[in-house]
Amino acid sequence: MIHAGSSPLPQWTAQLVFGLGFLAFHTIRAVFGRHHRGRTIVDIRFDLLEKSLLAFVTLGVIVIPLVYLFSPWLAFADYSLPSWTIWPGAVIIAAADGLFWRAHIDLGRNWSPTLEIGDDQTLVTSGLYRYIRHPMYAATFLFTIGQVVLLPNWIAGPSALVTFLPLYLLRLPREERMMIDRFDEGYEAYMKRTGRIFPRLLG
Ligand code: SAH
Repeated sequence: MIHAGSSPLPQWTAQLVFGLGFLAFHTIRAVFGRHHRGRTIVDIRFDLLEKSLLAFVTLGVIVIPLVYLFSPWLAFADYSLPSWTIWPGAVIIAAADGLFWRAHIDLGRNWSPTLEIGDDQTLVTSGLYRYIRHPMYAATFLFTIGQVVLLPNWIAGPSALVTFLPLYLLRLPREERMMIDRFDEGYEAYMKRTGRIFPRLLG
């Protein structure tokens, strides 16, 4: 059950908007994640660092928001926000879901839950990947910001942002190293013409 907290209507509504956005985000992942099954993996970099980062991000992106939505345990850390913040919050979460969905379409079978390369891996440089190398991470960042705006709670609000940041900072160079090892100059040239999560404006 969704708990009401201190400012009943806005908080309920914000929780509902967040809950729907959360459901859409994880449904996209679950639906496209099925393509990953049955792939033959030729390179996998699933070491202790990667496992710890994934466990930490699961806590902040899934466990803490669910505890906040469905139990009163985090209510001690609630604060209040003006009710208009629901609008920018909803727009940010919807944009995050749209971007996440499009990135999954563009990456297709090349998506993987951890750092790995399949025997049928191709280098995707079209769709969103034409402009940025990491649209899924961009979408996740957007979602974490929407979460801060929609959940007025000192723990549940920033939990996704705080746990996703280390994954982004530590995994990204390793992912790009792996892509260079697989695609050589193809990926290096691709890096020169794209941004990580923001499109390159110059050159
Ligand atoms: N970092 C990307 C993809 C995340 S999924 C994003 O944010 O959109 C992680 C997997 O995607 C990696 O293990 C790698 O195998 C694959 N990958 C990342 N970029 C790719 C690309 N441009 N083309 C094909 N596969 C890619």
